[in-house]
Amino acid sequence: MIKINKTGKRPDILVSRGADKDKDKLLLETEKLKTEYLSDSSNYNSGKKKFEFDSDLYAHDKIKAALIKIQHGKCCFCESRITHVAYGDVEHFRPKKVWTTLSNRKYNYPGYYWLAYDWNNLFLACQLCNQRFKRNLFPLVDESKRALNPTYDINDEEPLFIHPEKIDPELHITFDGAFITPKNGSLKGEVTIKSLDLERIELYENRNEIYALIDSLIKLYRLVPDTVPENVIKKSEVREKLKRMIAPQYQYLNMIKSNFGDDIQKIINESV
Ligand SMILES: [Zn+2]
Repeated sequence: MIKINKTGKRPDILVSRGADKDKDKLLLETEKLKTEYLSDSSNYNSGKKKFEFDSDLYAHDKIKAALIKIQHGKCCFCESRITHVAYGDVEHFRPKKVWTTLSNRKYNYPGYYWLAYDWNNLFLACQLCNQRFKRNLFPLVDESKRALNPTYDINDEEPLFIHPEKIDPELHITFDGAFITPKNGSLKGEVTIKSLDLERIELYENRNEIYALIDSLIKLYRLVPDTVPENVIKKSEVREKLKRMIAPQYQYLNMIKSNFGDDIQKIINESV
């Protein structure tokens, strides 16, 4: 997991027809949901009545394209590159329909419905992280601070999941080789790793392949004397390759930086 910055990159989605055509569709739909809730709040609170959300809107082509660009096609949680093999999900950090906690998986309605179309609540995630592991789970440090409807301030909440934009995941999650682990005993790191199963074997295997490749490249770079003829091996090419591997678009960047950040930076500095 690495920090994501979406500030100032929200796409405009205007209503295409009718009297409202120049109005922001995301805000308009959010206002409708709020009005619906006020008209029948007890039934929405009990779950008897449920909101209908428009996936064509929160996962609108423009929103998806913007998230893919900002996140370099990588999952906001596991950092796997999604777009080469799948469409990817538009994930709601705060669940829109219903929420559950770690200790009690019972459904709590109505969810964070007023954030269903909120750009700040949307990220690109892989299907496994989103649909299999995170689902409706949204634990907090202090349940009494839970925002139960739009009159509460979500900034009073302290989520146990690492928010990919507000918190730097590198302060809470680190790696020993390809093994993922909470940094300095971070509870948020631990809950995020365990709940999303960021230890899963498939991720470990992917990370381990990259770990082994970088480890070999660094060893190769150090072994090659500066005097070696360029037709044998170009030291500068190995350096460039390593430089590309700590660029934001590279998969498992937190793992790479945790293990090799200093070594690669030192090698890059040798070129200047
Ligand atoms: Zn993922």
